Order: sequence, then structure tokens, then C-alpha cells
Amino acid sequence: MAIAFYPGTFDPATLGHIDLIRRAAKLFDEVIVGVADNQDKSPLFTLVERVEMLEVAVNGIDNVRVIGFNNLLIDCVREQNADTILRGLRAVSDFEYEFQLAAMNRHLDPGIETTFLTPSESYAFLSSTLIKEVASLGGDVSDFVPAQVMKALKRVYSRNG
Ligand code: ADP
Repeated sequence: MAIAFYPGTFDPATLGHIDLIRRAAKLFDEVIVGVADNQDKSPLFTLVERVEMLEVAVNGIDNVRVIGFNNLLIDCVREQNADTILRGLRAVSDFEYEFQLAAMNRHLDPGIETTFLTPSESYAFLSSTLIKEVASLGGDVSDFVPAQVMKALKRVYSRNG
């Protein structure tokens, strides 16, 4: 019974994240998506909004659960009895930070491994930051985000713009 914990800010979730979750759901008995509060990153969406949007997007995948967390990642992984931390690797640019993070987490708990998956090539260049940049200037990002994220982006940016 292997459980994967997939942490991130998900501000907002993209189809790249969902693609990764679908792949992981086939490999692991359970996938727990952990939405980090991350107030220091000044997220566009609240923790509750980010969790809700992900819940709708993964509705229908039986072995996936979404939770919010604001403690140390490795502590949350232990609380959830997860076996591995799941991270997505897009381009080479992700590698250095992910390598540091994996090493730090191994130092904090040598019993928990980090697993990396890559998304479909069509999402390999996608990031939440890019989505927000394009959407804030009125660009159409509907091919890259779940429907409810699209609605939320429209709501936020039509209010501001
Ligand atoms: P963080 O603030 O932890 O980087 P993100 O929400 O940006 O949070 O990303 C969470 C995880 O999802 C990270 O492992 C990241 O590499 C991965 N990820 C982000 N965008 C994509 C994508 N387009 N395809 C696959 N994985 C992705």
C-alpha cells in the first residue's frame, strides 16, 4: 500500500498538475495532493479556493484526496502516513531546486523518498506563474487550466482590469 504526497502551491492548479496527478493515481494506491498555504508567496487565491478548485478537477479519480497544510512538509507527509513525496519535473530549470529540496527532505527524514514524474510534453512549459501573467493581460489560457480555474481567473482579472 504505497501512498504519494504531492505538495505544491497550486496557485492556481494547471492541467500540468492534473496530468501529473492522473499519472500518479495509476502508480500509487493513494495520492494525497497537499496544498501549501504559502502566505509568503502572496498567492492570488486563498488556500480554501485552491483546495476547492483542485477537488473539482480531480473529482472522479477515486484514489486522490486534496488537503491544505501549513506545517513543515515532511511533518505533514508523516501525519498522512505517506511513503513518498511526489514532484513534477518539467525542464532542466526545475532540476536544481528539486534536487536541493529532495536532499533536504531526505536529511529531515531518511525514510521518505522523493519520486519525480514528468507531465505530457504539451504541459512541460506550463507554470502557474505564466498562467497568471497571461490571464492578467487578457490572454486566453483555457487550453491549460481546468474549467473552474478558468472561471476564477476571469472573475479576478475582470474585477481588477
Ligand atoms: P511549488 O510552489 O511547490 O513549486 P507549484 O504549485 O508551482 O508549487 O508546483 C507543485 C509541483 O507541481 C512541483 O513539483 C512542480 O514541479 C509541479 N508542476 C508545476 N507545473 C507543472 C506542470 N506543468 N507539469 C507537471 N508538473 C508541474
